[in-house]
Amino acid sequence: MTEGLFDQWIGRHCGISGAVTPAAVENYQLAALRRQAAYAAEHSRFYRELYAGYDLDDPLSLPLISSADIVAAGSSVVCLPQRAIKRIVSMMTSGSTAAPKRIYFSAADLELTIDFFANGMLFLAAPGERVMICMDGQTPDGLGDLLARGLRRKQIEPLIYGYLRDYDDAAAFARAHQPHCLVGVPQQILALCGHCPELRPRTVLLSADNIPEQLRRQVEQTWQTEVFSHWGMRETGLGGAVECPAHDGQHIRHADLLLEIIDPQSGRRLPDGEWGEIVVSTLNREAMPLLRYRTGDISRLIDSPCRCGSLLKRLDAVEGHKI
Ligand SMILES: [Zn+2]
Repeated sequence: MTEGLFDQWIGRHCGISGAVTPAAVENYQLAALRRQAAYAAEHSRFYRELYAGYDLDDPLSLPLISSADIVAAGSSVVCLPQRAIKRIVSMMTSGSTAAPKRIYFSAADLELTIDFFANGMLFLAAPGERVMICMDGQTPDGLGDLLARGLRRKQIEPLIYGYLRDYDDAAAFARAHQPHCLVGVPQQILALCGHCPELRPRTVLLSADNIPEQLRRQVEQTWQTEVFSHWGMRETGLGGAVECPAHDGQHIRHADLLLEIIDPQSGRRLPDGEWGEIVVSTLNREAMPLLRYRTGDISRLIDSPCRCGSLLKRLDAVEGHKI
């Protein structure tokens, strides 16, 4: 019954005492978004100027922001003094400026991600099992490190390998350690399948903007395994949403993220079920809140109950980066 555990975890984080219903989560999210907007306006010059004249009590009417806004704003988005920043993730952007996009995290912000990884991975792995992480494993507080720390909290053993480059070496490592679960980038995991068809981990987590259906099926067939998808981006603190064993949409990290879907052209908010651009608002971040941030990713929200029993909204497959 690991499925119910995820919603229970969300309920605890949202301070919901009774049933973890969509309405209860929405109430929490709106209150948290109001708090996050007030906090951002108080502590960051960028948000103070952006929100001049807006009603912070109506946070869903606040202006959308984009990657370009974050690049242009630089450190004026940051709400904490430099000494309170634990990690800065820099990304080169494809715009005309040479300035990188920087996302700032405090220790508490990173803790939120570790906690999500710990609880989300229970869909794929059980205490006592081993998870081979085929993604960045070297960077302190980077993806592999945060995932490993989350797994250890659930008595799941992380095997940090790093991105796959030498497939013979990766196959030898996997044969030696016999992981129950593999976490990686779709194309790399598929290539490992080809090098090591007999490996057959019980589960595989693919994390990317876009997971081609055919690739997913090939991995499932070669390894006779169960493939789960994960959506997340550096802006969301890496973790975002993960599939459960019902494989009917990805369960969202509702306690930390409010997701909206908008029409990419008009910016108008779309009803649940319609495809459009994912807009993310962080709810609890202290170093650099991102409010109504356009991700450029296309998907839709599913509001029907999941076959696992969860009543909460889920994120459908993500159809890659549009921007
Ligand atoms: Zn489910």
